Amino acid sequence: MQQPSINRPPARMRNRHVTCPFCALLCDDLTIETRGDRLRITSTRCPKARAGFAPTPAAATPRIGNRSSSLDQAVAAAADIVRTSRAPLIGGLATDLAGMRAALALADRAGGIVDHLHGEALLRNFLTLQDAGWVTTTLTEVRNRADLILFVGTDTSEFPRFFERCIDNQSALFKPSPADRELVFIGEGLRPGRHGRRRPQNLRCDTAHLGEVVDALRALVGGHRLAARSIAGIEQARLARLAERLRAARYAVVVWSAGRLEIAHGNLLVQSLCALVRELNETTRAAGLPLGGDDGGATAAAVCAWQSGFPLRVDFGPGYPRYDPVGNASARLLADGCVDALVWIGSFNASQTPPATRVPRIVIGHPGLTCSPAPQVFIPVGTPGVDHSGHLVRCDAVVTLPLARVRASTLPHAAAVLDAIRAALD
Ligand code: SF4
Repeated sequence: MQQPSINRPPARMRNRHVTCPFCALLCDDLTIETRGDRLRITSTRCPKARAGFAPTPAAATPRIGNRSSSLDQAVAAAADIVRTSRAPLIGGLATDLAGMRAALALADRAGGIVDHLHGEALLRNFLTLQDAGWVTTTLTEVRNRADLILFVGTDTSEFPRFFERCIDNQSALFKPSPADRELVFIGEGLRPGRHGRRRPQNLRCDTAHLGEVVDALRALVGGHRLAARSIAGIEQARLARLAERLRAARYAVVVWSAGRLEIAHGNLLVQSLCALVRELNETTRAAGLPLGGDDGGATAAAVCAWQSGFPLRVDFGPGYPRYDPVGNASARLLADGCVDALVWIGSFNASQTPPATRVPRIVIGHPGLTCSPAPQVFIPVGTPGVDHSGHLVRCDAVVTLPLARVRASTLPHAAAVLDAIRAALD
């Protein structure tokens, strides 16, 4: 396999308008100073971005078991495992667009099954989209049009700059001005914070009861009467006032993060949120904003849908793409012994470790990634948007942003490794 060239940047360099790959907001306004192999972000204090652009272990080399090897030897060893596998799981999929294309090509060639490490959270949204459709919006629309924003089960803290980028903007294309926006939070453990002259309203309830609250709110928006005085600890009168404000809003947005809805049948809550948005659109304008798709999740789903017609959890074993959103879940396949090899891709950070399993593991991952016990094959790869250029799909699924290479690196792209494994099968 051809080694990547080291196109070493000057000792000191300043990159502007860099896209950050470390959450699905894909902020494209970073300024990064390169000093040798070290990077310094000068435009934001975002903790996730700072951690992501921190130095990686310099001496990471491919390994076969506990032995260091050349890249070619590791690729050959990985190809041997895939060749003898009858049903390999191509999992993790924490990579960029080119990496996902290569993962699908390998799955197609080897008769494998694909699933993302956030497959369970992504599924909560997909099931709603497939079953009933939805009305969603974009980050730009939120920034410029939203006058009432309802956060359900999330304060967006997992997307550290969401408020800075989309809510607290100084100006907007349309009235009312961002300073006059109304913010309402429903859920538990949320930290609404202060936002200029706005005082967010916080309706506390257990995450497990969010479905009841949202369904009650929807009924009130639809003009129905409820017998209960309170729903999951929230007085009906408070929900009724919120329903009135939602009906009066010119552009209400309902925000959720499927990764935070780890409750039984979380997809039904997403369905209820989308039904609330539909109800509001009977008389005014409203939209949903599903946050999520970190670690290449939005990209993996988009590429899989373009190429197979289905969003992840696709089995190429039969010779055609067979979709099974429940049966093809990584955890179930591994627990029930339905797969006999795991190709795991985790290129964004060192915590993207593969699940424990008895089947042989090929790990194509961040150089700082450690597994115990050691996988059969480990191939360190570069981080998209740091060690090599690439593309990622943003959480609102309407924009694919280019990623820049901001650091000199000898680490290969995951796509190149996956392509080399596939080529070695022929
Ligand atoms: S909010 Fe997300 S995309 Fe934006 S700088 Fe922070 S980690 Fe990067």
